[in-house]
Amino acid sequence: MSADNRKLRLIPAIDRLVAVAAAEPDMNKYPRNLIIACLRKVTDQLRTVLVKGDNVDTSPEALVTTARQLLEYQTRSSLRKVINATGVVLHTNLGRAPLGRRAIASVSQIMEGYSTLEYNINSGERGSRYEHVAEKLRQLTGAEDVLIVNNNAAAVLLVLSSVARGREVIVSRGELVEIGGSFRIPDVLKQSGAVLVEVGTTNKTHLGDYEQAIGPNTAAILKVHTSNYCIVGFTSQPDGAGLAALAHKHRLPVIEDLGSGTLRSLAVGGQTEPSVIEQLALGFDLVTFSCDKLLGAGQGGIIAGKAEYIHLMKTHPLLRAVRIDKLSLAALEGTLQDYMAGDPWQDIPVLAMLTITPRALKERAEGLYRLLVQQNPLLTCQVVALNSPVGGGALPAAVLTGYGVAVTLPGISAGCLESRLRQREMPIVVRIQDERVIFDVRCLAERDLPEIAAAFKTMS
Ligand SMILES: *Cc1c(COP(=O)(O)O)cnc(C)c1O
Repeated sequence: MSADNRKLRLIPAIDRLVAVAAAEPDMNKYPRNLIIACLRKVTDQLRTVLVKGDNVDTSPEALVTTARQLLEYQTRSSLRKVINATGVVLHTNLGRAPLGRRAIASVSQIMEGYSTLEYNINSGERGSRYEHVAEKLRQLTGAEDVLIVNNNAAAVLLVLSSVARGREVIVSRGELVEIGGSFRIPDVLKQSGAVLVEVGTTNKTHLGDYEQAIGPNTAAILKVHTSNYCIVGFTSQPDGAGLAALAHKHRLPVIEDLGSGTLRSLAVGGQTEPSVIEQLALGFDLVTFSCDKLLGAGQGGIIAGKAEYIHLMKTHPLLRAVRIDKLSLAALEGTLQDYMAGDPWQDIPVLAMLTITPRALKERAEGLYRLLVQQNPLLTCQVVALNSPVGGGALPAAVLTGYGVAVTLPGISAGCLESRLRQREMPIVVRIQDERVIFDVRCLAERDLPEIAAAFKTMS
């Protein structure tokens, strides 16, 4: 027998390990096949270690303990809550807009039981999921009619498919936008069956460029909000009113993909985001926008505008494939109620975080500073002024001034600290600046401050 084989004989048989595992009360909750799969993984690893010649505990008890850890790891939630200490309010990777209280209550009530999703309580007959928020949105946007879908990408696809399939859509070369995650205007146009006609140049497009491109096969003019970049310097784009007048002269619809879309015009960090109402008032026939960016609700996309076009979409076969689910709808309705009968600047977290004063942020940073130095005397902390972007495809040129705490711990690099914070049970996401870990307090709730301090309790 070779030396390797002799070592490998130390590995207990799977049957034996299964029997030991079955005797442990807390292992009963896992299905048998999952337990066996984990035990196999553990014995495979053990084989490698033994062949390498390392000394390890090969007792069935030790192996079952390792398998239990593996089972716990495999079955724990992967989609988890995190603390956002980056200062980026609309962080796409961290789930975009957090919901306000009313939206949370609405979601939790609807998810718990049955609802009027497609049931009309007045008539006792079938109702429409689209009607629950339609009137509220008509009031908030001034649109003749609205339609809600799964997200703004779906909204753009549905609009183009129903208005422009097989025909031409004119877009400025300065607006051929790519949003993260493979949403590119030329590709979405192609997918809808429309034909892209590019006009103008990257930095300048004139009204005459659009007019020249209009022909017998033109279906629409599309304007795309450059929500994640700015073209600065020698630039020009026709204004919305001019574009609408041109389109209407030729009996064409003019559509705007607003991207973020805010229900209240918003001026922060030196940049202004026009509201949906303002854009529709300029003459756009249809606008589309996201529900989970500046609006502050959950995932969703809204199409608002002329009833004759919305009607085409309500009867389009694609609608069923991109329909909004009841939880996102509940989040949207709760959020819209804050706009209609509350104080949106306070009640909607996104708006509150974007408009909070630097002074309030400085106080919050000082509070965090005190908790940190109390928790761990080895820490070097400093309250610092910070600039942060809005994020999430909104107000790309806006620079928000805020505050945070810069932290270093002797003997641990900022990179290592960042990774430890990220891998906690309650992950804390931070950025690093000048070899210091930065906790930007803009997106932190009061309860997050002691949690951040607690992260340093056992660190040295
Ligand atoms: C964000 C954005 C989209 C995509 O919206 P989702 O709701 O993420 O699908 C489309 N167009 C523009 C201009 C955007 O900013």
